[in-house]
Amino acid sequence: SAKRAGRGQYRFFDPSLNRVDMEEFQLEQALGDALRLGQIRLHFQPLVRVGSMSLAGYEALARWQHPQFGLIYPDRFIPIAERSGFILALGREVLRLACRELAQWPPERTLAVNVSPMELGQADFAERVLAELAQQGLDPARLELEITETSVLERQQLAIQQLCRLKAAGVGISLDDFGKGYAGFAHLQALPLTRLKIERSLIAQLSNSHDDSLIVSSTITLAKRLALQVVAEGVETAEQLVYLKLAGCDFAQGYHLGRPMPAEQLAEFEQAFSTMRASA
Ligand code: C2E
Ligand code: MG
Ligand code: MG
Ligand code: MG
Repeated sequence: SAKRAGRGQYRFFDPSLNRVDMEEFQLEQALGDALRLGQIRLHFQPLVRVGSMSLAGYEALARWQHPQFGLIYPDRFIPIAERSGFILALGREVLRLACRELAQWPPERTLAVNVSPMELGQADFAERVLAELAQQGLDPARLELEITETSVLERQQLAIQQLCRLKAAGVGISLDDFGKGYAGFAHLQALPLTRLKIERSLIAQLSNSHDDSLIVSSTITLAKRLALQVVAEGVETAEQLVYLKLAGCDFAQGYHLGRPMPAEQLAEFEQAFSTMRASA
């Protein structure tokens, strides 16, 4: 079909496409412009140390500011970017923006960046990440790369090589969305990880299901046994945070602690956050 045409090739509009395909077709055509015109922005979501309730850093989340469609979320454009191959250019732009922002922050702050499987399959991926860090004069330990279980299914040797090189240089490697899909226990030992992020649907169940409490606490125990740090995603209530603290979770992220926000709002957020801590 028209959508399967080679990367960067002009595609003729096919009148037999249905409405969903048509929207996807339009977005795919516009994605190239988005990158050139600087319409890809980053929002930053706070990452908090559960034990001390102090701010550790942020996760960078891509947003597409489209002139007609408004703000488009990654769940809509990342899959399109992955199918069309634009994800490679998008990933480079995200990394560049992320490192530029990180260089403005106090040295104790970290930043996590999401990485697509296709990027890890690039032979020069690790080199480019390290070059970007060096260009901004950043300690590699301030960057955390977030991968998923599917990240290393393709070109596994190459992907693991890249990750090993990055980890050796000090870059953190998080396994994102752990607990979503099939249990990836084999991956936990095969991958050079530093952190495990527990999928938010497991956290959402915390207050009303004994089973999920058991899964979350067991995952935290397992991570500790593997000498990995643990992050809980999608923390929306104070009760969940209390549970996670008792279970020994290292970090938490979620709307209860802070929503993703543009860089301009970070100073205000940090002031409000420290005031909240002081009075807690
Ligand atoms: P993720 O990496 O697991 O990021 C967490 C997602 O959960 C974010 O959605 C965030 O806004 C949302 N979230 C955070 N706290 C809460 C909460 O308390 N409740 C609920 N309901 N949601 C919460 P977002 O920003 O829409 O991103 C969706 C996914 O898109 C990300 O999931 C990540 O897999 C992908 N993504 C985002 N930015 C990039 C990027 O730059 N590159 C790549 N390859 N993927 C990206
Ligand atoms: Mg993530
Ligand atoms: Mg996640
Ligand atoms: Mg996700």
